[in-house]
Amino acid sequence: MASVSFSKHKKAKALKPGSRRPAKELCSECGLCDTYYIQYVREACAFINQKFEQLETQSHGRDRNLDNPDELYFGVYQNMMAARKIEPIPGAQWTGIISTIAINMLNHGLVEGVICVQNTKEDRFQPMPIIARTPEEILAARVNKPTLSPNLSVLEEIDRLGLKRVLVIGVGCQIQALRAIEKKLGLEKLYVLGTPCVDNVTRAGLQKFLDTTNTSPETVVHYEFMQDFRVHFKHEDGSTETVPFFGLKTNQLKDVFAPSCMSCFDYVNSLADLVVGYMGAPYGWQWIVVRNDIGKEMLELAKDQIQTQPVFSKGDRKQAVQQSIPAYDQGITLPMWAAKLMGVVIDKIGPKGLEYARFSIDSHFTRNYLYVRRNYIKKLKAHVPEFAKRIVAQYKLPD
Ligand SMILES: Cc1cc2nc3c(=O)[nH]c(=O)nc-3n(C[C@H](O)[C@H](O)[C@H](O)COP(=O)(O)OP(=O)(O)OC[C@H]3O[C@@H](n4cnc5c(N)ncnc54)[C@H](O)[C@@H]3O)c2cc1C
Repeated sequence: MASVSFSKHKKAKALKPGSRRPAKELCSECGLCDTYYIQYVREACAFINQKFEQLETQSHGRDRNLDNPDELYFGVYQNMMAARKIEPIPGAQWTGIISTIAINMLNHGLVEGVICVQNTKEDRFQPMPIIARTPEEILAARVNKPTLSPNLSVLEEIDRLGLKRVLVIGVGCQIQALRAIEKKLGLEKLYVLGTPCVDNVTRAGLQKFLDTTNTSPETVVHYEFMQDFRVHFKHEDGSTETVPFFGLKTNQLKDVFAPSCMSCFDYVNSLADLVVGYMGAPYGWQWIVVRNDIGKEMLELAKDQIQTQPVFSKGDRKQAVQQSIPAYDQGITLPMWAAKLMGVVIDKIGPKGLEYARFSIDSHFTRNYLYVRRNYIKKLKAHVPEFAKRIVAQYKLPD
């Protein structure tokens, strides 16, 4: 990787907190503009300059094969599987595969630092990005901070600390900007561990989401949109509350998601070396996508700590997706009894495994395509990647 001198970057000035960002309202607060790497933002920002094909080729040696139905949906990959930790990490989002891989990489000396995100002392959901140098610091970053998080804001620290081998953990928009400036970082080796991501919110938006969906918003420690078509909220006392997707107050929640997330087509984190999510796996399991040899090397380190099983696909999502498009668009909310009943039925006969992942991708891509078409028509052609256009073209959209 090309080495770039520190002083060369130092000349550029990061933006002050709260100032208007180059991507304006589409800014996903990835953190790039909080650093002197802001000088590359017009090239690098996922919402100013979409360039999946080029960055996939740079990251994986080729772009995705659009004629391969799995790559069309899940991006370039070598291997996919369902997995879970034999001994889950308490307090992790799922079983803690992400934290485990990061700790192993540090302990084996593959990297000197890990970019991840802890929370502030005052607020469990307020993101606080760090470069972790110890396993304890990585562990303290476990669990999702379900808000836009400026993970890249710590990039300048790489220079200051003189790090040459780094792991970055992040969601799609952060990783797109990171890949675009990767060569400017002067690293000997960069590893990228990604999670899928969708429907993210600002901290204020998160509060609205919790307040409208939950009986005790202040005690929620963790939540996830699960494969059983329910949102599972975990409270401080260990109790769990579930709300069916179809019972969410769509009319109140429509504006809660960040405009960047409503315009995003990188649900599956296409540019990471290794992706760990859940949506292509059976309930209770995590979903792993190994995109290239670097990702394989990273997963290898955890092989004795995880159980795996092959991915599977069951059901047919198409009708459910088509029906959900106008329902979401018109903000239809079912009465709770009907939502619960529908949740039970769809859980029994609905899409499972990879077909559930396709259901979720189709629902979000059609919604987001409509959003960009209605709000940013001039950007539509260049911003929506070819794979997303093909996915959306399977459905009839309202005007
Ligand atoms: C905002 C968000 C939305 C997600 N949506 C989906 C989805 O729709 N479908 C799906 O399959 N998977 C999704 N995931 C991934 C999934 O929820 C789990 O994070 C993943 O399976 C890893 O679980 P784990 O137990 O191995 O992680 P843990 O070991 O608990 O580690 C979690 C890691 O996530 C990082 N992190 C936490 N919050 C953020 C953030 N806001 N931005 C960047 N990094 C963060 C932390 O640094 C930590 O290292 C999402 C993740 C996030 C952060």
